Amino acid sequence: MSALAKQFAAVRQQIAAAEQAANRPAGSVLLLAVSKTKPVAQLAEAYRLGQRHFGENYLQEALSKQQQMAAFNISWHFIGPIQSNKTKPIASHFDWVHSVDRLKIAERLSEQRPDYLPPLNICLQVNISAEATKSGVSLEQLPQLVQQVASLPRLRLRGVMAIPEPESDYQRQREPYRRLHQVVTGLGIKALDTFSYGMSGDLEAAVAEGATLVRIGTALFGAR
Ligand SMILES: *Cc1c(COP(=O)(O)O)cnc(C)c1O
Repeated sequence: MSALAKQFAAVRQQIAAAEQAANRPAGSVLLLAVSKTKPVAQLAEAYRLGQRHFGENYLQEALSKQQQMAAFNISWHFIGPIQSNKTKPIASHFDWVHSVDRLKIAERLSEQRPDYLPPLNICLQVNISAEATKSGVSLEQLPQLVQQVASLPRLRLRGVMAIPEPESDYQRQREPYRRLHQVVTGLGIKALDTFSYGMSGDLEAAVAEGATLVRIGTALFGAR
């Protein structure tokens, strides 16, 4: 087995164990392989191992990889910061965008989503660590943004994404995810079925608090 194959097997096992520990059904957590800075050859190997969802942060890098991998049946997720002058290529070249944190960006993505593609899947990025510098809508403003984005015709609002401050203690890792999950489920909107949180360092805590999609880079592909 190659190093990459071993790492994919280990992460899949880790997800399965976390699902079981949380009394959640096997297969209820989707693995998003975060492949930023990694070469196409590694994405292709991951694809041969069965991986279909890939996450990228940098637009130019992602577009180049997509061109080289046009023959592959990949779901591409944009997870990086979005400048408003970059929304058009994002709207036309991705299946998911996880990092929408303001109405203006959402409106542009909706207007620019091509008619020949299905509505763009959207997660709203929430700032759950309340750090002034980080991007993301606050928990307090989330309900209003949900209402606004849900009405945009060419978007399909699926849920929320969060990147908390790094924290090594398991119980403390869980707290912000629990708060976010409570606020979102409290809205009572069935269409919000996606909780995009958990990275290499806090996957178990995220799954314990309802993550349905974990975004894993380092544990799959090695350090960047
Ligand atoms: C880089 C990145 C990840 C993956 O982080 P790892 O710690 O390498 O697993 C997940 N989400 C976002 C938004 C990222 O930018």
